[in-house]
Amino acid sequence: MEFGQVYLWRDADTLTLIDTGVPGSGPEIAEAVRSLGLSPSAIRRIVVTHGHEDHSGSAAEVRSWHGAPVHAHEADAAVIRGEARRREPVLTEFDRPIWEQVSSLGVTTVDVPPAPVDVELQDGDELDFGDGARVLSVPGHTLGSIAVYLPKHRVLFTGDTVAAGQPGEIILGVFNLDEGVMLDSFHRLAALDMETACFGHGDPVVTGAGTAVRHAAATHQKRQPI
Ligand SMILES: [Zn+2]
Ligand SMILES: [Zn+2]
Repeated sequence: MEFGQVYLWRDADTLTLIDTGVPGSGPEIAEAVRSLGLSPSAIRRIVVTHGHEDHSGSAAEVRSWHGAPVHAHEADAAVIRGEARRREPVLTEFDRPIWEQVSSLGVTTVDVPPAPVDVELQDGDELDFGDGARVLSVPGHTLGSIAVYLPKHRVLFTGDTVAAGQPGEIILGVFNLDEGVMLDSFHRLAALDMETACFGHGDPVVTGAGTAVRHAAATHQKRQPI
């Protein structure tokens, strides 16, 4: 199923996987790793941006290959472990047509294999890849949503807090628990010095992402709950 993004960050011959796709994405992830001339054992850690099925769905599978530890924010860890149910989003008029489309693909009702969370993250944690990767707590989409920022490379992984909509358009993510809280998160990310932004959905912006994300945050139109 083509849905959402999975990213690999490479440091020499080791890899960090950021998000894992829907359940059953393992073979595609392994193929992507091999296309880099590496073996799946090169994946040294798995970072899950939040506890939604299209991000944590294949974490258990990838972890089972070589034991790469799963990292996720403490507030979403119980959902990823299968110990708590995911909370349903507060849908808006903006979300509705997208929700209907996604529901018809079956993404929202798929069975997610529970995954161990080996490392529970908090805001400000630093992870040992990309010359120092910073964990930013950006609640709103879910309580435990994170972004991962690589200041030396000026790269940001936004999870679902920010998304690419129509070509060339950057938007606040959809299907959120609390849009007010999330807007603060959007502005926090927009303030970062970045060149490249990698979204949970839609194509990454490879150059000039800071200006583009700042513009999107400044022009965001409040969405009306259904
Ligand atoms: Zn999500
Ligand atoms: Zn998503």
